[in-house]
Amino acid sequence: MSQSRHPVERRKTLPVAVGPVTIGGQAPIVVQSMTNTDTGDIDATVRQVAELARAGSELVRITVNHESAAKAVPAIREALDAQGCSVPLVGDFHFNGHRLLTDYPECAEALAKYRINPGNVGKGEKKDSQFATMVELACRYDRPVRIGVNWGSLDQDVVARMMDANAHAAQPKDAEQVMREAMVESAISSAERAEQLGLAKDHIILSCKMSNVQDLIAVYRMLADRGDYALHLGLTEAGMGSKGIVASTAALSVLLQEGIGDTIRVSLTPAPGEARTREVVVAQEILQSMGFRSFAPMVTACPGCGRTTSDTFQHLAEDIQTYLRDQMPAWRTQYPGVEAMQVAVMGCVVNGPGESKHANIGISLPGTGERPSAPVFVDGEKVATLKGEGIAEQFKRMVDEYIDARYGGPGQA
Ligand code: SF4
Repeated sequence: MSQSRHPVERRKTLPVAVGPVTIGGQAPIVVQSMTNTDTGDIDATVRQVAELARAGSELVRITVNHESAAKAVPAIREALDAQGCSVPLVGDFHFNGHRLLTDYPECAEALAKYRINPGNVGKGEKKDSQFATMVELACRYDRPVRIGVNWGSLDQDVVARMMDANAHAAQPKDAEQVMREAMVESAISSAERAEQLGLAKDHIILSCKMSNVQDLIAVYRMLADRGDYALHLGLTEAGMGSKGIVASTAALSVLLQEGIGDTIRVSLTPAPGEARTREVVVAQEILQSMGFRSFAPMVTACPGCGRTTSDTFQHLAEDIQTYLRDQMPAWRTQYPGVEAMQVAVMGCVVNGPGESKHANIGISLPGTGERPSAPVFVDGEKVATLKGEGIAEQFKRMVDEYIDARYGGPGQA
């Protein structure tokens, strides 16, 4: 995977090492995801972590919510290592994290990072001591921590204190603004407390997840103004299907364009039976569409119109995109640089040749009433005209040949 040249100046943050992965500093923006298996089910969790990693997730978070989950974590790590999957695991803790991390040292060792939610760490006077226990364990095992504030579980003590202060202010702010500020305050005050407890600043990542796009943008701008902690971006409870994708893309794009965000997660609700890996693909496509990083060759395809009476080009565009993405796990090492390749699949002569010339390799299929031939362009030059049956297969072969010649070893262009 490569980092593209990009005009956006990233906000300066402290780099945080999560196993071999760096979040923040000038490191490429990291894609991460989370499993939805019962962590106590070792086989199912190993399978899903490996799938997410194969799809390109650079960190995978797993919930550690009870004893069977904590017991399973070392076995999950071992099984992944045995199959050559070294993706760092992040433990997601709520309510009983202090106890699980204390009682299961092998779990604490097997995780590369701990996520602590200051709103769910404990109630009343236990809150401070349970938070302190988790931070002290992070120090002992030299693990970074994400202090992850969530709109749905915001620390009510912070809210009450800030609402009270606002009520007595000369010019009170509206409740929505106070809630946004309470999110930021909870994150920053928890980070400062962690530092007082001995956790180095370059072991702290912050997040303030909201489910509303404008709230998320406002909160992260405030968070970015409050220091140089590395930031984890994500819209929480983004939802299903296109709604979840659009809302996440809208929120993340605005912030990324302002240089805010060192790692992202797209929290999609999968449709029944849908692969969990969709959230990884969407996160990669956000970063790639914005020019931050390249993960897999992109296919430019026209939407089709009345000039295309058959669905040939739709099938070809889909086939090629799927084929290119499926090959990436092997191609990453075999064909370095291939992830930045552009392929065009166009429906007719109107924009087809022009768009194809701008791609590394492109094809312009015949529209209605056009001669049944398809010109193919390679690096801006027309190199062939495909005819007859099997245009799709011929084009795929040409794509393979192009990749081998351009990215395959000593002979590469
Ligand atoms: S390239 Fe041709 S088929 Fe595709 S949208 Fe444009 S006019 Fe329609």
